[in-house]
Amino acid sequence: MGWIEVADGVFRRRYEPCDVTVGVVAGEGGLLLVDTRCGLAEAREVRAQLRELSSAPVRWVVNTHVHFDHVWGNAEFAAPRQLPAAEIWAHRAAVAAMRAAADDPRAAEFRAYLAGRGPEWAARIAELVEVAPDREVEREHTLDLGGGRVVQLRHLGRGHTDGDLVVRVPDAGVVFVGDLVEESGPPAFGADCFPGEWATTLDALVAFAGPGAVFVPGHGEPVGESFVRGQAAHIRALVLEGRVAADG
Ligand SMILES: [Zn+2]
Repeated sequence: MGWIEVADGVFRRRYEPCDVTVGVVAGEGGLLLVDTRCGLAEAREVRAQLRELSSAPVRWVVNTHVHFDHVWGNAEFAAPRQLPAAEIWAHRAAVAAMRAAADDPRAAEFRAYLAGRGPEWAARIAELVEVAPDREVEREHTLDLGGGRVVQLRHLGRGHTDGDLVVRVPDAGVVFVGDLVEESGPPAFGADCFPGEWATTLDALVAFAGPGAVFVPGHGEPVGESFVRGQAAHIRALVLEGRVAADG
């Protein structure tokens, strides 16, 4: 599918496996990457394909949340694979979860499960190097990309996980929203989600994004405000009907 320019100097690309979206925001000071895919080889491919957009270095990486298909490429942009290393940003809860994964038997079980899915996954897991972000956001942080472009990192509440971070490019009217919004399938209610708070977080997302914003989800095509409002209403209805647990 290739890179698609969502707005001036703001790009997205959908990747298999997992149909995960990677975002790029270009500033005079370098490139900011949103999410890093599900493995090192996949992240190397992203790095090579970034040259189609720019020769500038990746100075910043933002993980929208902790899930493997968004973070397992981090090592490609950290030392020793990249020098100087990019700053890698995520919400504090996501960083804590990634740091804990090294000693968590459930995380080991999950890696073993993926490795058992076939030779491609086994190879991916064999070379996996998990790198937790070195920069944390509690509620909000603004990055200056140079040339008058800033990017706002914002935690709007719990939803898909307890550490969802959205990435807003105010001059472009674009927000990368991770899996808080899903276009290619229904919202993913994993064991680590907060269904009872999710819709309220989406309300806050709409207010934060501003009128006419483009929302780029972690999986699927970009959507507008009405889609996000619709997804909030859908999640609210599921919780009211008792079809998903309200306590997360
Ligand atoms: Zn996810």
